[in-house]
Amino acid sequence: MKKVVFLVLSVLVAFQTHAGLVTNQVLNRVMEANANGETPVVILDLDDTLFDSRTRKAIIFREYAFYLLNEDRDESIAFKIFSLPLNQYHYGVSETLHSAGIRTSDIHEEINNFWKERFFTNEYAALDLEIPGAADFVQTLKSYGAKIVYLTGRDTPGMRKGTLKSLERRGFPSDILITKPTFEMDDTQFKKEAFEEIKKMGEIVAVFENEPRNLNAMIEAFPRAQAVFLDTLHSDKPDLPSESADHISDYL
Ligand SMILES: [Mg+2]
Repeated sequence: MKKVVFLVLSVLVAFQTHAGLVTNQVLNRVMEANANGETPVVILDLDDTLFDSRTRKAIIFREYAFYLLNEDRDESIAFKIFSLPLNQYHYGVSETLHSAGIRTSDIHEEINNFWKERFFTNEYAALDLEIPGAADFVQTLKSYGAKIVYLTGRDTPGMRKGTLKSLERRGFPSDILITKPTFEMDDTQFKKEAFEEIKKMGEIVAVFENEPRNLNAMIEAFPRAQAVFLDTLHSDKPDLPSESADHISDYL
């Protein structure tokens, strides 16, 4: 009997994904902080950390393609966009167009403007889909007693309302959402300033980010926290994530 139990447990451990191991470590840290009488706090970025920003991009690109068709413009470009799978969407508009095989330079500028007018808005942010397993994981963190801090470079006037809507729609628990007061403010600088306020909330047990520069700033500010790098999309800012960070690409 003991042998059977051992075998079943071994199989279960063997089948645990890397993301499963990392997220379990975070849950253990939450429990440890609770046991020590501290308030466990977990800081999570939103774009390409909890939400897949490609899903918003794809809606905008397809809307543009639909507009081209309605205007009796270039049908072949429209269908190249319609056919582009989600995994071919990149951080930048130009790279995404290249992967669709679109090289017309006047379209680049037009679609870039079309994208810019929509991407950073409440209306479109409200449509975001989660990175697989993200909402369940954050719900579990909350049920274990963690304080959840969503810390994002999205700006309050343009995107806060839509962000609250998408968090609710996708089943994320409501807790603390910190957004940038203005669009123009530098993301990393804004986040560094927010760290001071977050420090007062409890023991920071884990931080989740997809931008290496932001993650490294968090590691510096919260050296005891578990740092998790979301290896999804990130800007071309040159930093590499610190070696101490765990890498995951979803929460499954
Ligand atoms: Mg991000």
